[in-house]
Amino acid sequence: MHGEPTRHDPDSIAITSDNGGGAPSVRDADVDLLIAFLNTVDVEDGSDELASTDGLHDWIVRLGLDPGAAAPPTADELTFARELRDALRATARSHHEPTSDPAVTADLDALASRLPVRVAFGPAGVGVAAAGDGTCRALARVIVATYALSRRGAWQRVKICPDDTCQWAFFDTSRNRSRRWCSMEVCGNRNKVRAYRERHVSGVAGEKDERPGA
Ligand SMILES: [Zn+2]
Repeated sequence: MHGEPTRHDPDSIAITSDNGGGAPSVRDADVDLLIAFLNTVDVEDGSDELASTDGLHDWIVRLGLDPGAAAPPTADELTFARELRDALRATARSHHEPTSDPAVTADLDALASRLPVRVAFGPAGVGVAAAGDGTCRALARVIVATYALSRRGAWQRVKICPDDTCQWAFFDTSRNRSRRWCSMEVCGNRNKVRAYRERHVSGVAGEKDERPGA
């Protein structure tokens, strides 16, 4: 049921313009890259593209994040990539709430500080861009994409589905940023049915039946 991540254009985040951005709810290459990174783990089917250095390398090459085809990641880089993904996912999970847990963002901040990011100048303006090479550069692109989303007020729209068996990352394009589930048809309904059943069972067990479906 989960779609394949779209291929990322490596040049599209070379410079994050100061004056660019666009509408917060519009999906673009930055959104696609970040969502693809967060969804390298699929809780539902138990697969993980970052289970090995080869897996991480394949992912980087597939998304076009390392055009120079540098050396495959080291074991340390793989560990770092997984920590970065976990911290990004933890922060995205907190986006259902009005504010993020400081401990969660501190973790992410500490990891992001280890990535090479530079101030970049170009025809479109001044921005930040990934620096370094190989795996570090690829992961820096993910962080730069996150920064680009934040600049246009869209980082809070990156969320994790709260269904325990799903936990799929998605981009909330709703007008008031209120979307809760990755898919209303699947996880939304599944949880509505579960809540209904719990209410119904407790209603039957208790003295008074609660009217479901209200
Ligand atoms: Zn879901």
